[in-house]
Amino acid sequence: MRVLVVEDDENIAAALAAHLERAGHAVDRTPTIAGAWRALQAEAYDVVLLDLGLADGDGSVLLRRVREAPVGRLPDPAMPVLIMTARDEVAARIEVLDQGADDYVTKPFDPDELAARMRVARRRMAGRAQTVLRHGDLEIDPATRTVMKAGRPVELSAREFSILLALVDARPRVLSRAQIEAKLYNFDSALESNAIEVHVHRLRRKLGEGMVRTVRGVGYYVPAEPSP
Ligand code: CA
Repeated sequence: MRVLVVEDDENIAAALAAHLERAGHAVDRTPTIAGAWRALQAEAYDVVLLDLGLADGDGSVLLRRVREAPVGRLPDPAMPVLIMTARDEVAARIEVLDQGADDYVTKPFDPDELAARMRVARRRMAGRAQTVLRHGDLEIDPATRTVMKAGRPVELSAREFSILLALVDARPRVLSRAQIEAKLYNFDSALESNAIEVHVHRLRRKLGEGMVRTVRGVGYYVPAEPSP
């Protein structure tokens, strides 16, 4: 997932980003509402983790701006937003939930709990309640980041797993190379131009040639119906 962390406590932000990156997410960080708004207009994030007390105002201002944004442009007004609050901010939590936040965690929070809540938000965006994605004889579990094919585990790298999950979540829509890259790499990453092709090639070798289809010059997709 491409994640935006909006947090002005540098220690919390750095620790959180490190944890999420180890789990295979691409993370951008900003300490301000202004910086967050710029990032949100530039990139299609899968989830925003939002602190309330920020240097240039209250995080709820950013939340309202996202929810009131026009449909069809960035930021997506339906984007999942999770709030990070202090334990005593009960009234503020209720307020932001009613303003359109998806969920919250109270500081200090367990990063694994936050990651689980991110998966819930992602399922909400994809409109499904099932935790495991199925495609033909393939089972993809975002919680354990494991893949089974015909009941047997398949070893995938973190990047291969992220690409597969993004394509299966989006199926049968085509994702451009740029859209896939955005989920894997943050603004600071140096990127080799053929990186995505290499990962897709490996995915096909491991899962079957028909699994991921190419639309030349456009991108990749997983068909709605798995190939027999
Ligand atoms: Ca703060």
